Amino acid sequence: MSDTLDHVMKVATRPPVVMVEGAGSWLRDSEGRTYLDFVQGWAVNCLGHCHPVMVEAIRTQAARLINCSPAYYNERMARLATLIAESSGLDHVFLCNSGAEANEGAIKLARKWGQLHRGGAFEIVTTHGSFHGRTLATMSASGKPAFERLYEPKVPGFRKVPLNDLDALAAAITERTVAVMLEPIQGEAGVVPTTDAYLRAVRDLTRERGVLLILDEIQTGVGRTGRFCAFEHAGVRPDILTLGKGLGGGVPLAALVASVHASCFEPGDQGGTFNGNPLMAAVGCAVVEIVREPPFLAGVRATGDYLAERLRALSAELGHGEVRGRGLLLALALTRGEGQKVVDTALERGLLINAPRPDTLRFMPALTVTRDEVDRMLALLEPCLA
Ligand code: PLP
Repeated sequence: MSDTLDHVMKVATRPPVVMVEGAGSWLRDSEGRTYLDFVQGWAVNCLGHCHPVMVEAIRTQAARLINCSPAYYNERMARLATLIAESSGLDHVFLCNSGAEANEGAIKLARKWGQLHRGGAFEIVTTHGSFHGRTLATMSASGKPAFERLYEPKVPGFRKVPLNDLDALAAAITERTVAVMLEPIQGEAGVVPTTDAYLRAVRDLTRERGVLLILDEIQTGVGRTGRFCAFEHAGVRPDILTLGKGLGGGVPLAALVASVHASCFEPGDQGGTFNGNPLMAAVGCAVVEIVREPPFLAGVRATGDYLAERLRALSAELGHGEVRGRGLLLALALTRGEGQKVVDTALERGLLINAPRPDTLRFMPALTVTRDEVDRMLALLEPCLA
């Protein structure tokens, strides 16, 4: 292994390949091997690798204005905030650099709201299995079992309940509670859906009890489930929403979005050097302009249905389990807990997939993936599963 890799901090177990370039659904490594990519930066590259529209947005904006500091408005920041507000139905947008930062902002916004409107209430109810990021507060909010003992002591103020259990949630909300925070589909937990009926009931419950509903759509938002936001499937709208991953189509970009009623930051409460910089905002504009179009979202639903149907047939044939998820965020339950082995074999055969749990494979291709690429993926996957 070359010297340069030795200096990379080992925060992840990575296969010994070095990626050098990508186009659409395909990646190429330094040895010239190609891979069909159904990971896509962990559901990030919604338009695939190096989409020409994104490349052009970067080129044009880089030649015009890269950063003017968050002390000033810039036109791309204003445009992207408008696009996100229009697409989500919420009002105010704070642009930031990662999903964890957006969720950290959501937690702070809820706590500020609790100080102003709920007698200093600060507790946030989250769910077992949830994943909200890797800052200390977002790890504390997460219900990921592997985080339980890491970096103690955690940030206080989070209560966790089982997902899709309304009684447990209702019992956990007290006068100290300021918000309930959920993912419409728990992606990192293995694509575990929050049911639409539960989401509607949670919306009613949070309204009745006077607490905020925060939806973490870092993974499910920006078209991933076939709607711009996954909450649209349930016909609800949160008070606070977070977007990331697909928002930048591959560049570091995320957003904290709030309704007028929840949007209570004052100047000085929140910020950061790179927040709302025109270069990343320009890419976000290019991505959202494409993804929000109804025909594009209909295409995601159609390809997602096709992939789910083909996965179900393959699973039935090989004796594996259920297919979960929505749009192009899907998982296949394996009957034997050999997810990592399947991932490693697939890599050797030129296919990138992910196993968030030993008994689960996750599929999160580009939203622009073709049926032909789905067929090729299944042809590569089949021998790995057999
Ligand atoms: N929230 C959810 C639901 C996620 O899936 C992720 C990342 O996987 C995050 C938050 C954290 O986002 P980031 O890795 O950009 O900080």
